[in-house]
Amino acid sequence: MSKLAGKVAIVTGASKGIGAGIAQALAAEGASIVVNYASSRSGADAVVTRITQAGGQAIAVQADVSQPEQAQALVAAAVERFGKLDILVNNSGVYEVAPLEQITPAHFHRQFDINVLGPLQVTQAASPHLGEGASVINIGSIVSRVTPPGMAVYSATKGALDAITGSLSRELGPRGIRVNSINPGMVDTEGAQTAGFIGSDFQSQIVAQTPLGRIGVPSDIASIAVFLASDDAGWLTGELLKAGGGNR
Ligand code: NAP
Repeated sequence: MSKLAGKVAIVTGASKGIGAGIAQALAAEGASIVVNYASSRSGADAVVTRITQAGGQAIAVQADVSQPEQAQALVAAAVERFGKLDILVNNSGVYEVAPLEQITPAHFHRQFDINVLGPLQVTQAASPHLGEGASVINIGSIVSRVTPPGMAVYSATKGALDAITGSLSRELGPRGIRVNSINPGMVDTEGAQTAGFIGSDFQSQIVAQTPLGRIGVPSDIASIAVFLASDDAGWLTGELLKAGGGNR
């Protein structure tokens, strides 16, 4: 029996990377998926095609989660197409390295708008549609606790998201809605490649600090998202699950 049969999920930022992996894993367990993207229409369409060719249901919906009307429209599109909403994965995120002297208001606001305001707005829009047994999963990062140099702002966005996970778990818990966070270590994604992390000395340092001796791949995170979305995790809320091969 598929763990998520009959469920409907939105995965933000699912055109590539961790989000694409989560969308496909949730679909493989029977959930119908809204594959959100900001600009990569072809990437989102490819994820939808992979899901439908495997026998699942999915649609691609463009929305910039940092814009309140677009966050509302994303949720409305999901409910219009599939009739309800059970699972929200707030995965969209951006990361920029900048040492203290290079931090600008633009660097700050871009990351806080997408990584912090985005999940708040999409969860706010989704909330009226979520009921008993629903699951909200935020994709944080171990940087909220590890706080590497050159990542003050990005780490701060993920620290804020940790706090949001805790606060919303208390707010939504009385309605039977669980709110948890997966906090990955470094994962090999398009974004991590564009940022120059893959193949860098930084990656070598991370691997040296990681008991399991490698960086992650999207499927490492996706299987945890399936668990948190399912009734198997029905007694977990407000949890921040570090997913970094033991790197903490
Ligand atoms: P990625 O490969 O760069 O993919 C990012 C996704 O977010 C894309 O689908 C992108 O859509 C979407 N996105 C960006 N801005 C958006 C916006 N304003 N509205 C809606 N969607 C938007 O990133 P990733 O490495 O998979 O990271 C995914 C999440 O995991 C992020 O929250 C990140 O902070 C977190 N994380 C990543 C790592 C890592 O090492 N990779 C480690 C820990 C945590 P478009 O393609 O359409 O622009």
